[in-house]
Amino acid sequence: MKSFLRFLSILSLGVFTACSSSSENPDAKNSRKKNQKGEYVYRQHDEHLFNVPPPEKKHLDPYPWEKELVGKYPKITKEFFRCKGSQLNPPRIVSQNGETVRFYDCGGAEKHSLPLRNSKEFIYPILIDLMNYIQTRTAKRLVITCGHRCPDHNTYADPSTEAQQSKHMIGAEVSFYVQGLEDRPELLVKYIQDYYKEKHKGDKEYEEFQRYSKRDVNVATPPWYNKEVFVKLFTKKEGRNFDNRHPYSYISIQVRFDAELNEKVIYSWEKANRNYLRW
Ligand SMILES: [Zn+2]
Repeated sequence: MKSFLRFLSILSLGVFTACSSSSENPDAKNSRKKNQKGEYVYRQHDEHLFNVPPPEKKHLDPYPWEKELVGKYPKITKEFFRCKGSQLNPPRIVSQNGETVRFYDCGGAEKHSLPLRNSKEFIYPILIDLMNYIQTRTAKRLVITCGHRCPDHNTYADPSTEAQQSKHMIGAEVSFYVQGLEDRPELLVKYIQDYYKEKHKGDKEYEEFQRYSKRDVNVATPPWYNKEVFVKLFTKKEGRNFDNRHPYSYISIQVRFDAELNEKVIYSWEKANRNYLRW
């Protein structure tokens, strides 16, 4: 390489000298240089050949999703619930019953849809309403850490037996925290109850929350529930899984009752595995 560069430089030197020596004799060159005259170009500061309009600051039009704000932040839509899986996540090696098992993550929201209802992507509307209500009340950003989880991502994120019938897979569960209120999850539970006091005034099944006292849940705080939702509070040390790797306490809401179809919302393998599109 070095020798090639040297060859090039010698070659170019040769070309330049050849040019200058052959085209003009030295006397003519000297007299030409002597007689060279320079002239300044004078111009007033406001003289110009072309009219250039003064620059104007252009404001970027807001994107459609920026137009609707809720509590200063973009309105929460079902887009926020898309599966958080990614093909970039490495296989997860877990030992189960003495055997080593590998779990692979899904391709994420680019590779599959949300659950479907009437051929359209669907997340239980009550979850979306509650998220926007909380964002309005707190005027802080609400972060959904886990909305829909396809079965692959569900197993990858949380291979525990309890999670294998998670309502995340059917679009009926959400986990979230609120920036700035990471240490006050009880306040968020209060806002959830306030929502029902406002929207279902006088309807005791919705307005009044019971505490769930059975010990078959993975949280120490007894969950709250009414006819429609089941609310769990995870402290900083509880419920850590692949989607909830942050150090904050968080809330999860499961839908118990489907007001539109007037029936209980129950997990089924069919709904989880056969009710979304893959591409
Ligand atoms: Zn997925």
